[in-house]
Amino acid sequence: MRIGNIIALTAGLFLAACVTENAVTGRSQFITIPPSQDAALGLEAMNEVKKTADVKTTGPAAQRVKRIGARIAAISDKPDMPWEFVVIEEDVLNAWALPGGKIAVYQKMVDSFTDDNELAAVMGHEIAHAILRHGAEQMSRAQAQNLAIVGVGAAVGATTKDGEMAQMAVTLGALAAQGFVQLPHSRAMELEADDIGTLYMARAGYDPRAAVRLWQKMKSMKDGASQPAFLSTHPSDDKRIARINAKMATYMAEFKNN
Ligand SMILES: [Zn+2]
Repeated sequence: MRIGNIIALTAGLFLAACVTENAVTGRSQFITIPPSQDAALGLEAMNEVKKTADVKTTGPAAQRVKRIGARIAAISDKPDMPWEFVVIEEDVLNAWALPGGKIAVYQKMVDSFTDDNELAAVMGHEIAHAILRHGAEQMSRAQAQNLAIVGVGAAVGATTKDGEMAQMAVTLGALAAQGFVQLPHSRAMELEADDIGTLYMARAGYDPRAAVRLWQKMKSMKDGASQPAFLSTHPSDDKRIARINAKMATYMAEFKNN
């Protein structure tokens, strides 16, 4: 067999091994990072963020974010993830989730949504991103692009040994703080996080109609303002509002059942 064929075959086997079906959504995902690495990666990345950003873990805003986050995480599909909810003291309308359930909400988001139901819509969305492993999926896509450049053979060799995998994960964690936060989720992932996130908030006893109010307010707030990454990479507000409304009967049933 020619070397090109061997590389192509190896790459094919490697990539096939990384496609898994998501237990919550049933969607096939290409993820090179094993689930067992999520917690370590998220912790490493969060520690990097704490070195550079003004991260609050105490005080009224952090307490509120923790209280709402813990209530939603408790009824989610993965209540036992090492959840952590923090506030970043910056005047930015943003929020993000790292693998393993490390979630940050920016101060402006907390201040803008004083109704717990509305903030719960933000947190349900981010909790859904973590549970659906969207960060790991984004990193895997970026990693796959790197593999094409660096050489598939070497990368496959490195991932077959546990020790080297662990070492790679630590290195990746340090590099990933920026990557996980800055790589935009795809539109499909955003809509998926809305679907599951709204279901979770309703199940936790937060009024799902607040999710519609949240996106309407976000839309009016960004009119005329420069768009932060969170907004520019998300699907259009009209589209997500219409989608949430279309499934409102299901969400209200969850809300009334709890
Ligand atoms: Zn999102």
